[in-house]
Order: sequence, then C-alpha cells, then structure tokens
Amino acid sequence: MRQFLEIKDRHPDAIVFFRLGDFYEMFFDDAVVAARQLDLTLTTRDKGKEDAVPMCGVPHHSARVYIAKLVEAGHRVVICEQVEDPKLAKGLVRRDVTRIVTPGVMLDEDVLEPKVARYVAALLPMGSADDDPVALAYLDVSTGEFRATEVSRIDILDELTRVAPREILCAAELRAPQGAFAQLPASFAWSTFTLAPAAALELLDEALLEVPTAAAPLLTAAGTVLAYARHTQPAGVLPVARLDIYRSTDAIVLDEAAIANLELVETTIGRKKQGSLLAAIDDTVTAPGGRLLRRWLLYPLVNAGLIEQRLQAVQYFVTDHTLREQVRRALGEIADLERLAGRATLAIATPRDLGKLRDGLIRLPAVAAMLGKKLPSLLHPAPLLAPELKALAAMLTRVLAETPPAMLKDGGVIRAGVDPEIDECRRLADGGKDEILAIEIREQEQSGIPSLKVRYNRVFGYYIEITKSHLGKVPARYVRKQTVATGERYVTPELAELERKVLSAEDTLARREAELFRTLLQDTAAQAVHLGEAAASLAVLDVVCSLAEVAAKHGYCRPTVDDGVVIELKDCRHPVIEQLLPTGEFVPNDCRLDAGNEQLILITGPNMAGKSTYMRQVAQIVLLAQMGSFVPAAACHVGLCDRVFTRVGAADNLSRGDSTFMVEMRETSHILAKATRRSLVILDEVGRGTSTFDGVSLAWAVTEYLHDAIGARTLFATHYHELVALANSRPRVRNVSAAIRETRGEIVFLRRIVAGGASKSYGIDVARLAGLPRSVIARARQLLTQLEGGAALGQHAQLSLIATAPAAVAAPSAAALNPAAASLLDELGAVEID
Ligand code: ADP
Repeated sequence: MRQFLEIKDRHPDAIVFFRLGDFYEMFFDDAVVAARQLDLTLTTRDKGKEDAVPMCGVPHHSARVYIAKLVEAGHRVVICEQVEDPKLAKGLVRRDVTRIVTPGVMLDEDVLEPKVARYVAALLPMGSADDDPVALAYLDVSTGEFRATEVSRIDILDELTRVAPREILCAAELRAPQGAFAQLPASFAWSTFTLAPAAALELLDEALLEVPTAAAPLLTAAGTVLAYARHTQPAGVLPVARLDIYRSTDAIVLDEAAIANLELVETTIGRKKQGSLLAAIDDTVTAPGGRLLRRWLLYPLVNAGLIEQRLQAVQYFVTDHTLREQVRRALGEIADLERLAGRATLAIATPRDLGKLRDGLIRLPAVAAMLGKKLPSLLHPAPLLAPELKALAAMLTRVLAETPPAMLKDGGVIRAGVDPEIDECRRLADGGKDEILAIEIREQEQSGIPSLKVRYNRVFGYYIEITKSHLGKVPARYVRKQTVATGERYVTPELAELERKVLSAEDTLARREAELFRTLLQDTAAQAVHLGEAAASLAVLDVVCSLAEVAAKHGYCRPTVDDGVVIELKDCRHPVIEQLLPTGEFVPNDCRLDAGNEQLILITGPNMAGKSTYMRQVAQIVLLAQMGSFVPAAACHVGLCDRVFTRVGAADNLSRGDSTFMVEMRETSHILAKATRRSLVILDEVGRGTSTFDGVSLAWAVTEYLHDAIGARTLFATHYHELVALANSRPRVRNVSAAIRETRGEIVFLRRIVAGGASKSYGIDVARLAGLPRSVIARARQLLTQLEGGAALGQHAQLSLIATAPAAVAAPSAAALNPAAASLLDELGAVEID
C-alpha cells in the first residue's frame, strides 16, 4: 500500500493500474470510478476493518480493453508494473510507472483510427492582453507529426475544431471562470500541465534536428506538449524530429461553422465520416494517405503556384491510368510506415511490426521505379531511394525471421544462421527433444520395458515413468521420485543434466533474442527521419492517386486558379449528393461570382428546390480546387478565396444552450467582422428565427453591408422574396432562383438555377407535398390571400391571424373563456410561432 500511495501521490488526477501478480488493481476513489465505468465488482481490501479500502481489478492480459474504455471516457490511466523479477527481489517487489495512457497519448493500435491523426495539444496566451494571440502546438505521438501556429484569440475555437486534438494542455488558471480559455468547450479533454520556457527550449533542442525560429510562446507550447508526451512514455524515445511552424494565413481560414456546415469531414447529423466530403473524395489505399488527405482538405491552399503543383501531380495520374492502378496496388501493400517507425522509436514495436516495416521498405525501390522520369515536382521519389533505408531493409531481411511472431516472448524472432549463440541454444532446446527420444528408446531396450516413457512436468522436470506391471524390471540406477496410481516415477543423473542444459538453453535463447531484437529496434529508430520522409512521399503519392482516381471515376475537371476575384463554374455538381444519386440524375448548374460585378447572388425559390445544395456545392468545389483536387464540373475557374464562411441552419449548436436566433446572429456577426473582399460567403436564410419584419429588415441590412462595405463574393439563399428588389439599388446584386414548373396546380422541382428572382415562395405547395392535411392547406391558402390582399404584412395582419385561429377550430370567444384560459390565449398570441 505504501508503494501505491507514493505513486498515487505523484498522479492524483489519474487512475492508477497497480500490478499485483496477474492483475491490475485499483484502490480508493480510482476503484469506485473504474468499477462504475467498467462495470466491475467493487470489493474491499482488509474487509471488516474500519478503514477498509475499496478496490477492484482487471486481469493483466485483457487490461488493454479496460484502459481504452477509461481513456475514451476522458480519464488518464497510469500503468504501474513490477519492475523487478519477483524471483530475484529481496522483500517487496519494486513497482514503478511504465507508461501513462491519456486521451491525447494513446498508442493502442486497436483504438487508433488508421486514417485519423491523434493529437495532444498545448495552448498558451502570447501576451496578457485580452486580444493577444494564442500559441497552439500539437503532436501526434504515434507518428511524430508535430506542429505549432499562432492563432488570434477569436479564431482559436475554429483552429481547434480543425485540428481536433483529443486532449488540450494548459495552466489551470486559464480554464478557471475568468481565465483566457474559460469559454472554450469542455467537450475537449483538458489537462493541467505547464512547462517553463527555458525547460521547453532545452527539451526541443534535445529532441529536434533543428529548433525553428519562432516566437518564444510557440516554442514553449511545443516544448510543453513534448514534455507531457515524454512523461507518459518513460521507457521509450518519442518519434519526434521536426517541428513545423505554420501560419493560419497559409491556408483558407475555415471556421467551426464552415467545417460543420459543409460537412467536410463528418456529417452534421450523426457525425459520421460516411456522407462527408472527405468520404466522397477518399480513395486512398494507405492510412498515412488517408491522414494526409484529411489535412489537405482542412487546409486548402491560398497560393496559386502551390495549388498548381498539386494539380499537375493529380493530372499526371489522371492521364496515365495504367500507372495509377499499378502504383495504387503497390501502395496498398505497404503498411503504415509512419506509425510503425513511431512504434520502433517508442520501443513498443513487436517483431511482427518490424516484419511489416521491413516488407514495406523492400517495396520502396519498386514504387520509385514505377514513377518514370518526367515526374511532376511534387512527386520526387528520392526519399524512397535513401541508401539508409536500403541498408535498413537489407539488415532487417538478414536478421529478422521471415514471418516474425506477434510477441517477442513467442520466440523465433531472429533468423537462423545470424547469431551462433542463438543457433546453438535452439539446437540444444530442440535437440533436447531428440535426445529425450533417444534416451527413451535406449532405456526401453536396456530395461526391456516397452511401455517405459520419458516425460516432463514442472515439479520434477524430466522423469521416467514405469507402469505397475513392469516395476520388477526397473534398473537399480533409477532414483524413485514419486508413486502414482498407475506406477512409479524415476529420475536419472543423465536426465537431470539434460534438463539443466535444455532449460538454460531456453533461457539464454530468450535473452539473446530479446537483446538482438532491441538492437533491431534501435537500428530502425536511428533511421526514423528517413523513414518519416519516405512515408511522407508515399502519403503524397497515395493522396494524389486517390484524387486522380476519384476525378476519373466521377468525371471531374481540372480547375484553373489565380489571384483574381472571379469564380466561374460550368455544369457543376454536388460531390456528395451526386454520388448518392443514380448516374446522370443530379442536375448540374452554372455559377459565376465576381467581386467586381456579380458579387452577391440572391437565390430565391421554394423550399426543397435545391438552393442549399447549390450553394454548398459551390463552396465545396472552391475548397476542392484550392486543395489541389479536380472538381465535379465541366469547367472551373477559381479566383483564390482567403476565407470561406457559411451560415446555415444551426440546430447542431442548440445543445450549447443558445437559441437558434442567437446562434444565427452570432454567426452572421462573425462573418461581417471577418470576411474580406477575397472571401466566399454562403448564407442560407438569415433572420428566419425572428418575426417576419425583423427578419426581412436584418436580411436586407446584412446584404447591403456585404455589398457596400465588404465586397465578398456571396451566395445568399432566402425566403424573403422582398429582397429581390435589392438588385435595383445595388449594382453588384444579382437574382437567381431555383426553377420549378407548375402544372395543373402541382409543382415540380427542376433543380435548375435560373436568372431572375422568384415572385412567391410556394411554401404552401411544399407543405402540401409534405402531406399536411387538406383542410390545413386550404386554410393556409385562405390566410395567404387575406395577407396578400393587405397593403403589407403588418402588425394588424399578424393580430388578425391569431384572432382568426380560434374561430377556425370553433373555439369559444375570448370573453366566454375562464380567466386562466383567456390569459393562456394572450400568451399564445404573444408567442413568435416561427
Ligand atoms: P432547399 O435548400 O431549396 O430547400 P435543398 O438544397 O435542400 O433545397 O434540396 C432539396 C433536395 O433536392 C435535396 O434532397 C437534394 O438531394 C435534391 N437536389 C438538390 N439539388 C439537386 C440537383 N441539382 N439535382 C438533383 N437533386 C437535387
């Protein structure tokens, strides 16, 4: 208990898994929490005593599952092992922390998602003023990907949404009610951890090939993440060699709303990858490729030259589809070199991991050879041909067994003929079996007992067993050890000697294999930088091939990009919905946006006509083009966007306790504050969450502001066809509408976006399509006529709506109601039904 309390003292905020024999035990509050979370039976130690300690435990061989569960629920787990051989320990076996598993530092392959990086991040204000920027650093411990950037205070949630760290480190006071990060959602796992700037720098200096020049808080944040990750892995070395400092302005700025609304990496409903833009364009065949594609999509470029480089590479594989297939097949056979190299460096790789790494390395030259000579600059194959990797592959091939075992303790890790001691031990251990057989046969012959058997058990080691009927023939040199029901057991000096040799050979073999395997790990880890570079090349290759594959499969075109302010799309489609519909069913549309001319496009038309789809597809295509992908259109030109904003129905944020209208206005204000002339703004209904007059007025004023003050290219879908009139007073406003056909009172959606505004909203027609009762539809038509008959939709008309409603259901007049019902009616009258 003293050992436990000592360790618990050092890790008060973690659950300590304390190794006792074949179990990990938890005590005190840890046990209570774990028992509840893991559905374990809570018992007590020293039962009956006054200070009985609550405890529970899990078998060590199935601990992984339990650890993963606790960590996914946001806990940190400290693993405490026996660090001495119990056979050799004097007194109490010494125990110590061997690793710490946290939401951000989780290395279990069964938990890590292959195509998603898992980051632990650190946040640090760069100054004391409220609007000083914040340093953000993050690290994927499984691969060593390590980045840092400076984010302005108001953008911090956006960048965190994009990075999606599984755990964030900061000083406790920053999360306190008045702290700088108090407002950031608790849905991230927050941990308290800080590091002094000097210590951070020292750590970076030690871990990195080169410490980049950057503002001190950036380096401190980076050092903090590193220190935290290191303290979770006391045994291994982190696979970290480079720190990438990036500027948020190197990529399109995407806020939380845009990432969610455009369903870039997961759907809004259900939060699944399936149905997202990422899923629609992800045909990668390797995990590192999948992770890189995600990064490209979330960080679309703003530099035409860099985008062009990527497009060239995609073009290369669109054109040569035989090569594309060949490369993809080869890539598909190469395991996740990034994570395997990471595991080798962390010294947690298994023999089988090293085998996979070796098999991957062996294939690199062939991949490089496939690529041909006139390669686009992005695809330089040099990292695949690094002599260091060739040497590593040769060494692993020579030393490691052809099919290495899953675990070191299974044996058979090192190839025969590599190490004389191992070969000799194997011969002895195996030879043991031969010799025993030889002894058995010889003894049978000498004694004349055909049923004589040489056997083995843990208590006696090797022994000779003779059945009762032959006991008379037992030679005198046999030493009797035990009587059993069927006969007697004997040992001989020869057997004892053999046993000693075999057992010591097995011990030596295990020790020597472990020793050589450790050397293999070290030799592999020593090439981590080259491995990382090769893996990065493969990832780029995979992403580019995947984009080419998707482009070819779905008929995408190569976009052109420049620094102008025109977006022009011909016959463009929605990349996700197009794939859900039978081929050819999705109706393509054109779009032209020009900050100098057709700057702001108002889209009117009934619900369900295809307005949102149209706007989203334009935004998604812009992002695809800027990430360097081909796009679902017949022709596409993009004048580069610096930011993409969306304001779409906000149901998702309701869980944060804001009203729909509040969220809507906050998003709108955020857009008006940050959009520039280079931005792309998508507005899907503004002002719907309030009364009609308020709504129209707000929508009107927002449109004017976007036109007059900002000049951002904007697509604005609205119900308020009153806004159509804006085109008369504002030169860069255009009206389009989602076309429908009306035949014999039926409406049919054509899904075509055509010039000109809609004159009515067809809400009632859509309601009828949705199956509202006929009487309700008829009544709505009647009210609509009444409203349209009035000069305008006025206070009077709204009151008359409410006054007529009870009459329609033949309710008693207000005067006839009892006071409670009358006041209810008043209250109902005051409710904003929209
Ligand atoms: P709105 O925003 O006008 O209410 P939506 O954009 O939500 O309409 O579209 C309504 C439905 O019509 C969606 O389910 C979508 O799948 C389908 N749709 C939209 N645009 C097209 C199109 N161009 N071709 C085929 N189907 C479309």
